[in-house]
Amino acid sequence: MRLLIVEDEVRLAVSLARGLTAEGFAVDVTHDGREGLFLAMEGSYDLVMLDVNLPGMNGYRVCAALRQAENDVPILMLTAKDGEYDEAEGLDTGADDYLTKPFSYVVLVARIRALLRRRPRAASPLVRVGDLVVNRSKRRVARAGTVIELSGKEFAVLEQLAVRAGEIVSKAEILEHVWDSAYQGDANIVEVYVSALRRKLGSGAIETVRGAGYRMVLHAA
Ligand code: CA
Repeated sequence: MRLLIVEDEVRLAVSLARGLTAEGFAVDVTHDGREGLFLAMEGSYDLVMLDVNLPGMNGYRVCAALRQAENDVPILMLTAKDGEYDEAEGLDTGADDYLTKPFSYVVLVARIRALLRRRPRAASPLVRVGDLVVNRSKRRVARAGTVIELSGKEFAVLEQLAVRAGEIVSKAEILEHVWDSAYQGDANIVEVYVSALRRKLGSGAIETVRGAGYRMVLHAA
């Protein structure tokens, strides 16, 4: 897996590169936005980490330019707290995720892995788990041919579980993907949604893995 870091804080960029290399990634670094855009267009990266305030060209413009060129490399924006740009803007320009500085290295690696994992499945609008079909573009769910009505948040929680069916998905990961970073409430909100999903989907669809999270396990009927 090859990563590109576009970050002008040299010390941060170098320490990220060192850490990610130790994790087994191949890492390229540039400190300039324009060069970042050039490298991202030319190189075949699995993921690009993009700072917002950069010399040459700001991160949002780099991101927008890549998307305009039909380049769909996963982009993780590294935003500054109280920066002049907000996270919504980052997502609007086509970023896949964002992380507010200062961030924990562990969280960064988890986000990178989540983005890389999500990629192959993300290409397909239909996710099938046993007799459950999740249509991600129409945001519709059916089990054994019967459409199940879900609220927006219920759908989003289910989508996280279905895309990673068979794997344990932690409450924190669901929270992170479904609720925005401004959400300050209790992580137990996830339980409320999982209970609702269990009622609607029927028993046996979502397992609780004690102390770890949830796992979707469905076998074809
Ligand atoms: Ca910067």
